[in-house]
Amino acid sequence: MRLSAEYYVIRCGKRECGKFSYSKTSQKTKMCPYCERRIVIEKANKTEVNSVIHARKLVQEFNKKLGEMTEPWWYNSKN
Ligand SMILES: [Zn+2]
Repeated sequence: MRLSAEYYVIRCGKRECGKFSYSKTSQKTKMCPYCERRIVIEKANKTEVNSVIHARKLVQEFNKKLGEMTEPWWYNSKN
């Protein structure tokens, strides 16, 4: 049995942006809060998380890391 995650941490697909934000797993799309691009969640690079607290923490950490390097090692740019 697998618990379903309630939130996704997603990455904006716009090359000049690439910022992280989070959404509920029930959402189909999410507006990037940084560049206002509509992210299709199904197609986005995403990480499942179980709580909004965890989601916020990851978004904060990931966006901080973005300032330190151009491409995080775990990011698959094929998307
Ligand atoms: Zn964006």
